[in-house]
Amino acid sequence: MKNLRNLLVSIMLLVCATAWAATPKYIFYFIGDGMGLGQVQALRTYFKTVNDSLAPLVHFYDFPVAGIVATYSADSDITDSAAAGTALACGGKTRNGMIGMNADTVALTSVAKKMKAAGRGVAVMSSVCIDDATPAAFYASRPSRHDYYAIARQGVASGFDILAGAYFRDPYGVRAHTPGNVFAEYEAAGYTLVRGRDGYTLPQEASRVLWLDNDTTTENCIGYAIDGDNGDMTLPCMVRAGIEYLYKRYPRGFFMMAEGGAIDHMGHSNDPSGLLGEMLQFDAAVREAYEFYKRHPRETLIIITADHETGGLALGVEGSRGPALDNLQYAHRSKGEFSNALRELLKSKGSKVQWRDVRQFMEESLGLGSVIAITPGEEGALMVALQDVIDSRGKDVKTLYANFDHLTNLIYTLYSCKCGLGWTTYSHSGNPVPFFAIGAGAERFENQGWMENTAIPHILGGMIK
Ligand SMILES: [Zn+2]
Repeated sequence: MKNLRNLLVSIMLLVCATAWAATPKYIFYFIGDGMGLGQVQALRTYFKTVNDSLAPLVHFYDFPVAGIVATYSADSDITDSAAAGTALACGGKTRNGMIGMNADTVALTSVAKKMKAAGRGVAVMSSVCIDDATPAAFYASRPSRHDYYAIARQGVASGFDILAGAYFRDPYGVRAHTPGNVFAEYEAAGYTLVRGRDGYTLPQEASRVLWLDNDTTTENCIGYAIDGDNGDMTLPCMVRAGIEYLYKRYPRGFFMMAEGGAIDHMGHSNDPSGLLGEMLQFDAAVREAYEFYKRHPRETLIIITADHETGGLALGVEGSRGPALDNLQYAHRSKGEFSNALRELLKSKGSKVQWRDVRQFMEESLGLGSVIAITPGEEGALMVALQDVIDSRGKDVKTLYANFDHLTNLIYTLYSCKCGLGWTTYSHSGNPVPFFAIGAGAERFENQGWMENTAIPHILGGMIK
């Protein structure tokens, strides 16, 4: 009898422990926009090649639970961020371009909204625009991702505790031809507007926070990591400040979605070192959550995935001897900055521009031609490209977020090759993306096989008490 009672008590304790452990109070949902397996493997190989052994860091790709996620949308094998964001936020497949609605334009409820309704603190943060497709899918429902003014206004209605990102694309309804002022609406709804690094200590007395970058000239992004410190916010600091703000206010726990949005921009540009810069930031942002997890291991869940892959990035290029990712460390300009500076150089020199001017600029910016050797044949091809640009013969390459001259493009193709990295497209690919998890409830993502992206918010939704 006594044995039976002990057994029953043990079973009860086990059931309670399992239920407790599997229902995290604090949930971190990291999305690397455009972060496929190639991007993650590039980060991993970089650390292996460069110096992680000296001071090993915790990386999200080492988390104990991992999986593969299918990304296709309702109308395409190659999704965009709107359809994929909707799948990851709301658990429904939709057509490319649509936000928070199914393919029949029926509004869906995001997991963030469900968390809010259950009394948790909610933060939606991104290193790109807060009305960009991925963050928008967590608070808005619109037939088009380009309804920026309407999306911004739906952010007001979300009542989320923190909305953070670069800026709004149409805060005054100019593009929508419906003049207004979303800032006034946020203020009326009790939001305190915080700008740039002031947000690193979010005001605890503020009932809600709208946190935007200082620099409104680069509205697409809070600033690319590789372009250095321009006084912009960074994703790791945003995550740290978000934790601080939510933890004190919500004893019932919180949900934070943090997007590394510019990983996608670098994929569109086929910019290998710019990509590494964004991946390092993303990795560091997850590490902020990991530090929190270490203090609350039984109550914290961290998951990481991507909406899709961008660029068709792979390690290994015909003619290269394999990945040489240490070559990425010599660059200190994004491809966009490189292209702008090269245009300036060509303009200032006019017809007197010499190949040696360009070569020197290339060496300084990327290490290409100095620490990274180039052959006479490669140099000859670049010289021809320069002449083509001077003679207005070279064809510019237009990608989603930038326009590159023919010479810049050729230099970056060569640079990628020297790193042993290859790209198949300036757009998204249909490749699956990785998934990683650690902490309370991570086991619910095990044994999922080749997961649908829609499964993720459904599993998270099942954790709401
Ligand atoms: Zn994209």
